[in-house]
Amino acid sequence: MNILIITAHPNPQSFNAYIAKQVQENLNKSHKLRVIDLYAEGFDPILRFDNRHRRRDLASDPETAKYRDLVTWADQFIFIFPIWWSGMPAMLKGFIDRVFVAGFAYHNTKTGLKGHLNGKAWIIITHNTPSFITPLAQDYGKVLKNQILKSCGISPVTISQITGVEKISDQERQKALNKIIQKAKNL
Ligand code: FAD
Repeated sequence: MNILIITAHPNPQSFNAYIAKQVQENLNKSHKLRVIDLYAEGFDPILRFDNRHRRRDLASDPETAKYRDLVTWADQFIFIFPIWWSGMPAMLKGFIDRVFVAGFAYHNTKTGLKGHLNGKAWIIITHNTPSFITPLAQDYGKVLKNQILKSCGISPVTISQITGVEKISDQERQKALNKIIQKAKNL
């Protein structure tokens, strides 16, 4: 498979960065792998609409062309990010705003969005909220899964979460990470 990992954490020493490293190292070597580390790349997450940046030109914006190429290339997406204020970091949201654009990722129809993309996705999130709360919560990866990826044609989408990430012991964190490593091996 063509696997595209997209990460959004500002600290290369963070637990999220460690998850990303472990996932990469444990994928079967027969896969082709590309990684977008949004903070390390200095991705500009600001969507601009003005005389020089017209909404109708987003699907051909040269600044984001390499990301559109990677999104088209991928048939397995892996998103890895911490939950901030119930959802994805603004950096990742800005990436979605600028790259998953009309005319490229979807088009509007009378009944909703028609997705243009293909492939499956795996969302890996970390947060401090107990697991019995997250099904009742508004987002915690569900917006990316249902409103964004599935609307753009990417399906199925699964979510793995490491809950209570800052509160649990090192052993519990490693146990949770081991489940993710196992899933990465089986992709
Ligand atoms: P880190 O802080 O890097 O590490 C977490 C723990 O893992 C630490 O104990 C650390 O010692 C350990 N660790 C770090 N690196 C390693 C390693 N290599 N190996 C083993 N252990 C390691 N949480 C919610 O539940 N809901 C919210 O709405 C929410 N909003 C937030 C908003 C903001 C702006 C911020 C900053 C945090 C918010 N949080 C929220 C908490 C957030 O989800 C967690 O801080 C984040 O998921 C932790 O991931 P991290 O990679 O930053 O962990």
